[in-house]
Amino acid sequence: MIDGRAEVRGLPLYVPDAIANCVVDASDNTNMWGAPPAAVRAVAAAAASATIARYPSVYSEPLKDAILDYVGLKQAAVVTGCGSDDVLDSTMRAFGDSIAYSTPTFSMIPILARLNGLALHPVPLTNALDLDAERLVDCRARITYICAPNNPTATPASRAAVEYVVERAAGIVLIDEAYAEFAPETFTSLVADNERVVIARTFSKAFGLAGLRVGFGVGAPDVMRVIERARGPFKVSALAERAVLAALETSPDGLEWVRDRAARAIVNRTRLADSLATLGLPVLPSAATFVMAPTSRALVLASALRERGVLVRPFAGLPREIEVFARSGGEGLRIGVGPWEMMETLLSVLAEVV
Ligand code: PMP
Repeated sequence: MIDGRAEVRGLPLYVPDAIANCVVDASDNTNMWGAPPAAVRAVAAAAASATIARYPSVYSEPLKDAILDYVGLKQAAVVTGCGSDDVLDSTMRAFGDSIAYSTPTFSMIPILARLNGLALHPVPLTNALDLDAERLVDCRARITYICAPNNPTATPASRAAVEYVVERAAGIVLIDEAYAEFAPETFTSLVADNERVVIARTFSKAFGLAGLRVGFGVGAPDVMRVIERARGPFKVSALAERAVLAALETSPDGLEWVRDRAARAIVNRTRLADSLATLGLPVLPSAATFVMAPTSRALVLASALRERGVLVRPFAGLPREIEVFARSGGEGLRIGVGPWEMMETLLSVLAEVV
């Protein structure tokens, strides 16, 4: 009894790699420029009022129109959550008994799926690092999860592969676009013509609000209502709601700040990729706010960097069915993109240890 359910007992705890005297933290793909000033002011103003003594809106109603405006959709509906993790979790609870997904992908997917009692159908990415659309569809799972751009590879999914899955999958197609703001194209508009498509997005990355924990889903109204029921009430705090509203407002300290920092990240991503290649660490093509360098020295390099106060995220056990990871012994380094001064510090420390 006291041990808890079997599904829960076997789950690893999430262990972030925090250290006290960190010089550069490029390990979690959050916004290394910080948060939009308009959102910071909104939180401060709300905290000083009676806002925090009362419950927030039950299902974040004040946010929904602003979110639809932001994604440029009129007919769709929105569900919010405590981070997009919550939207992914609620979607699984609402629709799942099985889930097909590419590997490697966002590490929370198998964990949330097991928590919700879903059968897992992992399918390796192709050697070109695209979705293996045919194999995903052949799983006939109730949910097919697509991460585009994909974490941890940073690679985009091709439109052809995504459309193949959307047209033929057996159930819900859950497209996680946590990094949409950094990608050359997004798939959010697919919800307009496809009832089964659910898009999950977040305010944790481009919007710089990871500490406030807000994400959202967009899709057909009937589908969003089911997810909202599975989610439950009061998941987004009053302060988070105020911050998101301020960040979505078209102003130099709100949405323009967000777009400007995303544009800088895209420029710095290419500069970082070039510099890493010069150090002998070529990266995969990136459509996200981080890069992935497949290297058999990932664990060694990450710990040497860590000793010098620089955090990146090492991966081991990446699927060797994929050529690039077979060559790197299943290891890779994921490095977040931020202001160029931070990247210069990271690169100079890396040059010492490489
Ligand atoms: N999806 C992907 C692909 C991610 O990388 C992350 C964060 N690491 C999330 C979802 C969850 O983000 P959040 O819960 O902060 O919205």
